Amino acid sequence: MRIAIIGLGLIGGSIGLALKRASGDRDLRVIGVPRREETVGKALSIGAIDEGTTDTKKGVEGADLVLICTPINLILPVLKDIAPHLKAGAVVTDVGSSKAEIVSQAERAVPKGAYFVGGHPMAGKEKVKLEEAEADLFKGRIYVLTPTSRTSKKALEKVRYLVGLLGSRIMEMDPKLHDLVVAAVSHMPLAVAAALVNTVEFAEKGKDEMMRCAASGFRDTTRIASGDPALGVDMFTTNKSSVLKMLSAFKKSLGRIEKLIKEGDPKKIEKELELAKIFRDSIYG
Ligand code: NAP
Repeated sequence: MRIAIIGLGLIGGSIGLALKRASGDRDLRVIGVPRREETVGKALSIGAIDEGTTDTKKGVEGADLVLICTPINLILPVLKDIAPHLKAGAVVTDVGSSKAEIVSQAERAVPKGAYFVGGHPMAGKEKVKLEEAEADLFKGRIYVLTPTSRTSKKALEKVRYLVGLLGSRIMEMDPKLHDLVVAAVSHMPLAVAAALVNTVEFAEKGKDEMMRCAASGFRDTTRIASGDPALGVDMFTTNKSSVLKMLSAFKKSLGRIEKLIKEGDPKKIEKELELAKIFRDSIYG
């Protein structure tokens, strides 16, 4: 099986490393298709690919599976670019962190005889780029696939096989539901974390003291605000309506706590916090 990975950053590089490790006696060949020539050398030297080229057309020629791992705003342009060069039966998948728009447009952009299956590994890091890639990034983690009524069963099986090689646990979801889910557990929390940090940044009084007293609670609650801002821009622009929906739900939730604090009834406050504790513990144990 020839597998082309377009975009060799944190995600593309980690997929390459995991596939190469899993290849063993399987007949797998991983072709890396980055933007810059020097990335081909780097990816070869860390063992993330078997061969590489910056020529996208050459990279996808003869590929059975193509993974688009570029920044999210390039996924559809790249797909349109490679479409005429895909072999009959080729399956294309992506790793973009929002799905509804990509899947609906990609299904129309793949040529007849080739197939598209949307995907999103629920794994990552605050730091990106190839230097951060690791073979174990997806091990045991959820990898969402977003088949629709138009998805070929055979193509889905191929992508499921590939995801299995990464050691991930597969979850299938409608693309729109996926976008709401990631808005709730990933994108909206980033907005909240950034807002928390900026609340201190713009404090009218005591900012220096706040900074010096900020201990592990503040650090844990705001960790994701230290991620690459470019990823956040991608999340908020490509998943706008779901993020806004979840932000509105968050404001309601915050409003409820604000009201309880104003009322000052310790029992009611405790009940609200207990509800959150029990639910959080049921997620993380
Ligand atoms: P990244 O580390 O910045 O990697 C993106 C890579 O794409 C870079 O290596 C970049 O090359 C390359 N690239 C840019 N334009 C290209 C082009 N025209 N052709 C080929 N390669 C090109 O970002 P990432 O974190 O891997 O994210 C990639 C995708 O994964 C995004 O769609 C994101 O939504 C998704 N994702 C990310 C995470 C996460 O936590 N980071 C998690 C799940 C999914 P240069 O190095 O030359 O700039």
